[in-house]
Amino acid sequence: YIDIKNVHKSFQKNEVFGSIQLSLNKGEILSLVGPSGTGKSTFLRCLAGLDQFSSGDVLIEGKTILSKKTKDRPIGMVFQQPLLFPHLTILENVTYGLRLHKKKKEADIVGMKYMKFVGLEGYTQMYPHSLSGGQQQRVALIRALIVKPKLLLLDEPFSSLDPDLRRELRDGVRQLLKKEGMTAIFVTHDREEAMLLGDRVAVLANGSLQQIGNPQDVYEHPYNQTVAHFFSDAL
Ligand code: ATP
Ligand code: MG
Repeated sequence: YIDIKNVHKSFQKNEVFGSIQLSLNKGEILSLVGPSGTGKSTFLRCLAGLDQFSSGDVLIEGKTILSKKTKDRPIGMVFQQPLLFPHLTILENVTYGLRLHKKKKEADIVGMKYMKFVGLEGYTQMYPHSLSGGQQQRVALIRALIVKPKLLLLDEPFSSLDPDLRRELRDGVRQLLKKEGMTAIFVTHDREEAMLLGDRVAVLANGSLQQIGNPQDVYEHPYNQTVAHFFSDAL
């Protein structure tokens, strides 16, 4: 469904990662973990079109997407900070992408449905500043989901939230992604989060994918010291 073929990224002479090879099945959630500075965010940004891979190709349903502009790629992204439009209401934020193709009334009906999924139906007419960080992050998530991208990228979406809220959102997000049949790459620093959220876990370190497999396997049978070290105190 999604084929990431030999992508490589350097900034001038500095190689961030060389030759990442990765395929995702439709509806699969992949957790991507690895030490700070190994290029996880850069990898997502290049997929989303906010930056460019130095070489390699990315195919979605057999077609390359790298030749497409950011806005034409069927890819959604959720960042560490929610980045909502401050001057738009919550419902306007949520339906922003839909409004490009649908009438306001139709978009609002769909928007309300998604607001209910995440328990925010009472907040439609409010503005982002009156919502908590966790609520804003839920809005950012459904804003990205509502246009049904073929691939959703999440770059540490919960890292600015407190641990209790994180735990609460973690279960909700997996349920929502599964319900939508969404294919997603979820970057996190939190190993427990990675193992619970992902169908598979990929470990990026020292410029390449060290291991990719189901969470239990990676945890119990790390290929090498780097992976073992990274998972040593999980759970
Ligand atoms: P973290 O876990 O801390 O978020 P990360 O794995 O997301 O780290 P990146 O932010 O992708 O790591 O950064 C990877 C490397 O690329 C770092 O060494 C960083 O300094 C470098 N880098 C990122 N963006 C640029 C840029 N625009 N120009 C030059 N170097 C960059
Ligand atoms: Mg990052």
